[in-house]
Amino acid sequence: MHIRFWGTRGSLAKAGPTTLRYGGNTSCVEVGMADGTLIVFDCGTGAHGLGQALLASGKRPIDGHLFITHTHWDHIQGFPFFAPLFIPGNTWDIYAPGGLGNRLEETLAGQMEYTYFPLTLEQLGATIRFHDLVEGTFDLNGGRITARYLNHPALALGYRLDVGGASVVYATDHEPHTRDQSHTLAPHASPSRALEVHREEQGHIAFLSQADLVIHDTQYTAAEYPQKVGWGHSTVEYAVDVALAARVKRLALFHHDPLRDDAAVEHLVDIGRQRVVARDGALEIFAAAEGQVVELPEMGQSPARPVAHAAAGVEASETTNAAVTILIVDDEPDIVRLLQVTLRPEGFHLLAAHDGETALQMARTERPSLLLIDWQMPGRDGLEVCRALRAETDPQLRDMPVVLLTAQSKDEHVAAGFAAGVTDYLTKPFYPAYVRSRVREWLLRKRVETPERA
Ligand SMILES: [Zn+2]
Ligand SMILES: [Zn+2]
Repeated sequence: MHIRFWGTRGSLAKAGPTTLRYGGNTSCVEVGMADGTLIVFDCGTGAHGLGQALLASGKRPIDGHLFITHTHWDHIQGFPFFAPLFIPGNTWDIYAPGGLGNRLEETLAGQMEYTYFPLTLEQLGATIRFHDLVEGTFDLNGGRITARYLNHPALALGYRLDVGGASVVYATDHEPHTRDQSHTLAPHASPSRALEVHREEQGHIAFLSQADLVIHDTQYTAAEYPQKVGWGHSTVEYAVDVALAARVKRLALFHHDPLRDDAAVEHLVDIGRQRVVARDGALEIFAAAEGQVVELPEMGQSPARPVAHAAAGVEASETTNAAVTILIVDDEPDIVRLLQVTLRPEGFHLLAAHDGETALQMARTERPSLLLIDWQMPGRDGLEVCRALRAETDPQLRDMPVVLLTAQSKDEHVAAGFAAGVTDYLTKPFYPAYVRSRVREWLLRKRVETPERA
């Protein structure tokens, strides 16, 4: 397969003399499989150049599969300017995270409302099929796509393509699950133990496992990170640590900050390479540059084998959020109120308790889809409630997602929570956008695991 970068910038397109080397267009990456299948990751402003190149190639029809990580502007702004969508006879399958009121088609139509754009979604000439995805794996012609939730203040999926023994992972925009990144400051420092004990970090590492190429969010450095907590992006140090842990071959630094000029991007590469050398790693690092092409040889390639409705297994089902009950437990009324205010517009059925004993009783009688519970409370604390639930025989209680609310983010605290069986953490102080995207993710994931869907 070949990979070509059409847009590498994050957040905002940045044309001008400071970005000539690495490019100013926002996220768009073309992947061409050896059998001719065309895959596009994200549709930022870089998609304009890709569209023009596809037209100029003379190939007709121009069919493809567009995978959108999430619908923040820098990932969809090129959509109304992507020429192949305007040509009758072309067919495009468009995939993005969906479910729980998130619908791709509506979001893209919103961007093309008359106030913002002169053409509507219905006026696109190509045949377009929308796929609202949840986490999972499915076949796409001769390849295999794996989608995994990223940690971002919008519901976001990373994508992995495996074909003919070659693999590429596209993982932007993503923030470390462990907020304490102080350990990464020195190049010789060893990675956080949280990478070993945090289930979400382990899941992320497994997602990248042994990939030939990982294109990863590296918008910040560890030194900058304390001012950027909750913005939804990785540091170069974290990206190197997870790539090393996953035994990745090559790491492409991606989603360059609009304030970072070409020299500053090169400095990021230096930071990353020093870290690899300090850890005796074999990881190759480069900063993704607009126009750059990477070739990954495919072996034992099978002929093109179109798969109809390839994504069926991981398409989100439509359900009403009113059927979803969430129990919020905290001895501080302000925290309960904040979470209620954040989650109420989503239409969930919300319950509240202020101590562990009541929480446990309510969990048994009300059987919520999700439990958000404070760690430190008088009486039974969050960990004890979680342990009690995990010891239940009823699978609905035993497997209930339990998310621990805590201001503690040190490695030993993270380890203690996972040892008690918590599903994940929500670190205080909360950012409302993060709470919304994480809650969606926990609920959607649970629904995929449980075949008898609510
Ligand atoms: Zn972005
Ligand atoms: Zn984003």
